[in-house]
Amino acid sequence: MTIFEKILNKEIPTELVYEDEKVIAFNDISPQAEIHLLFIHKEKSENINDLMDKNPEQVKDLYHAIQKHTRAIGLDKTGFRVVTNLGPHGGQTVFYTHFHVLGGEQLGFFGRA
Ligand code: 5GP
Repeated sequence: MTIFEKILNKEIPTELVYEDEKVIAFNDISPQAEIHLLFIHKEKSENINDLMDKNPEQVKDLYHAIQKHTRAIGLDKTGFRVVTNLGPHGGQTVFYTHFHVLGGEQLGFFGRA
């Protein structure tokens, strides 16, 4: 089981910053920006390609949650970045699809380290 399933099952106590019927969001344990949130769907998939195979509607659910929450906290005013990593070159370490939302400060370029 991945760490995110344990968070979802409340086996690892984690404050949720957002929850609706289908999606939860919480703060990243190792923030890479002033604001670094992780959005996950309540139905498991391993990565974005697996999610698209299983149920592409989940992308809508996730972006709906991101839209709602970023507007609620005013992050849409200053801007933010959404990232999802897949596999070793993408830097994926947790094999449960998640969208990083980064912001709260000017972000740098991304790509090669
Ligand atoms: P990935 O590298 O798979 O794209 O992103 C996984 C993210 O999960 C990382 O940014 C990492 O800091 C975060 N993370 C790993 N374990 C935990 C945890 O137990 N709690 C929280 N809140 N975030 C975690």
